[in-house]
Amino acid sequence: MNNAMLFSDGGPPDPIAYLRRLSGDEQSEEDYRRSDTGDDGSVGEDDGRHRHRVQDPPARERPAEGEAWPYRATLSFTRSLIFYGAGAVTHEHERACNAIQECRKLRQKYQGKVGTFRNSSALQQPDIAFRFGSEGVVELFSETNVETNLSKVPTIKEFRDDHYRLVELVNNGAMRSFCFQRLQLLSSAFRTHITINGPVEAQEQSNLLGTDFYRTLKIDNHIHAAAAPTAKQFVTFVSDKLENEGDTVVSSDGKTLKEIFGNAGIDRDHLTIDAFNVLADYSVYQRFDNFNAKYSPFRMADLRRIFLKTNNAMGGRYFAELMKQVFNRHEESKGHSSAAEMRLSIYGMERNEWKDLAAWMTTDWGGAFPGPVVSSHNRWLIQIPRLWRIFRSKPGNENTSFQDMLENIFAPLFEATLYPEEHPEIAEALKHIVGFDSVDDEGSLEDPCSCERPVEWNTTRTPAYWWQLYFLWANMQVLNSLREARGLNTFSFRPHAGETGDPMHLASTYMLCESINHGINLDMQVSLQYLYYLDQIGLSISPLSNNFLFRKLASNPFGKFFRRGLNVTLSTDDPLLFHMSDDALLEEYSVARATFDLSMTDMMEIARNSVLQSGFEEEFKEKYLGKDFRKGATFCDEHITHVPLIRAKFRAEHLAIEHMLCHLIAAGKGSAVLEEMKVQFGLARDAHRNVLFESLDEVPSFPEQNQL
Ligand SMILES: [Zn+2]
Repeated sequence: MNNAMLFSDGGPPDPIAYLRRLSGDEQSEEDYRRSDTGDDGSVGEDDGRHRHRVQDPPARERPAEGEAWPYRATLSFTRSLIFYGAGAVTHEHERACNAIQECRKLRQKYQGKVGTFRNSSALQQPDIAFRFGSEGVVELFSETNVETNLSKVPTIKEFRDDHYRLVELVNNGAMRSFCFQRLQLLSSAFRTHITINGPVEAQEQSNLLGTDFYRTLKIDNHIHAAAAPTAKQFVTFVSDKLENEGDTVVSSDGKTLKEIFGNAGIDRDHLTIDAFNVLADYSVYQRFDNFNAKYSPFRMADLRRIFLKTNNAMGGRYFAELMKQVFNRHEESKGHSSAAEMRLSIYGMERNEWKDLAAWMTTDWGGAFPGPVVSSHNRWLIQIPRLWRIFRSKPGNENTSFQDMLENIFAPLFEATLYPEEHPEIAEALKHIVGFDSVDDEGSLEDPCSCERPVEWNTTRTPAYWWQLYFLWANMQVLNSLREARGLNTFSFRPHAGETGDPMHLASTYMLCESINHGINLDMQVSLQYLYYLDQIGLSISPLSNNFLFRKLASNPFGKFFRRGLNVTLSTDDPLLFHMSDDALLEEYSVARATFDLSMTDMMEIARNSVLQSGFEEEFKEKYLGKDFRKGATFCDEHITHVPLIRAKFRAEHLAIEHMLCHLIAAGKGSAVLEEMKVQFGLARDAHRNVLFESLDEVPSFPEQNQL
């Protein structure tokens, strides 16, 4: 009996329960029955010569309402499970697996409630107030007991130590070798699976009637609002405004749109995509500064301010109208079914940024699409550019510290959460925001930090990525504890990471984040890549953006990550700069399909991942993934996701195997299990040979026949 093949109810097995079983617990009757019978419950027949096992069918019927899925536990296909490649389990493997377990515990400390303390019942009381603690993290307290901090997270010192430890572990030679081998095996397993089962997958997918690639929802998880329209949509919008609203005053010095264009010597004939010069080209490769400049049409900051900003002389009306047009494509499913999670910026330069942004978001700007700037098909994320150097360099900011910037970012959020009646617009806007992002050039020079407090950081030097990320994370955690206690929506942390620069940025996001944008630098660090696989951390990758900025398509690791089973999806990043068609997301999928040789099953899996990674509400996810999606890949409803069960099963089984393998080897049981598996493989091989020979009355002579 091969214990490794026993799965509970179709989901990945619980490795701890598995270990317990290995250490002497008996298998249940049910376990035996499931492994020895066909899915109809019939016991395999034994005709006396050899045992013949009824093969489970590759597909299954949809169950009657209220019934469990049949075959979920026993559905089988020509499996390509590879438990352990070859050779013995060595002490080095044990060291590697112990390192993996330690890394995963470090993540759990920052993702779970292990290192966090919150007094939820106290936080529900009306007399809660906040202050910025000397460590740079907000403290919540009751006005009757100002001494007790009601929500604590690990300190910067703890995080520095944990971060250093993680960096040390993932760079360890034993861990790197082990992770590399496992990732290679995952790649091979996927290729084997496709070679054997590819036609079955395609057939199963075509049997799932009622939906197809175009009708299945894809969420663009990573897109910046200011670059959300394509260049073509943008130029059309500007032309329309110049023609119909030329006399509208658009700048703070009282100039009309016509005057702005006239003074710049631009007339209607200049309104072409080429003249706008927003499309990315060779000048932006490895040049984030040139890339940022592309956001300004004709290189005119004025035009960027008028059309692509929320705070300008018109209150950002043009930008709101433009956003509504972009929303409309998603709402109407023009071209295909899609939704988006767009980023708006909070810089932390001024205290009133949140108020201005919230006013823009909640205003009804009228026009063709009345109502506030929200959509059933969009959720907002707030991106915080890492612009401390610019903040500090502003005239008048000579005596400021990093703490001042943090307060500009977070104080309005705590005020609006504690006193919503005093800040109704921010309180309302926050309901439409699902997460925070951190953005900027990861390749820029950063200063090594230790555990300085933000109030001590007062030079123009750029603090380390991990240090900046910690303070965003820590304050957001405290904010979440308050909002959760009060029944309000909370925010996830989904920063840009691993786009360029030091691959160790991905170590800090491994601990602090639900998912990240880009992450292509994971192909430079196999240990982290394997950890991202084990914890299924979402990667929202934009190969077209990478192609123009940091990584040519041919060397983009998206295809490799996907085959290995990392939780990857496709996003557009900046359609204004990178895409040529009206539908940037479809263009991204289309290019990826050709570049990475993706099947339609692959495409659907990538689309499903986009919904899983998104911050859309649970009910929304149930609608697009199936009501049991929280239980795992095999519980998503393939009639909605269009990912056939055979693929979901393949992914779930491999993820389960990797988890069990790491647990077993770390627990010192790897050698014993490998020995037992060798015996089982030997018996299975003998049985296969017998089937071959017993199927022929007379075996003609052929070379090497004694080898079987
Ligand atoms: Zn981006």
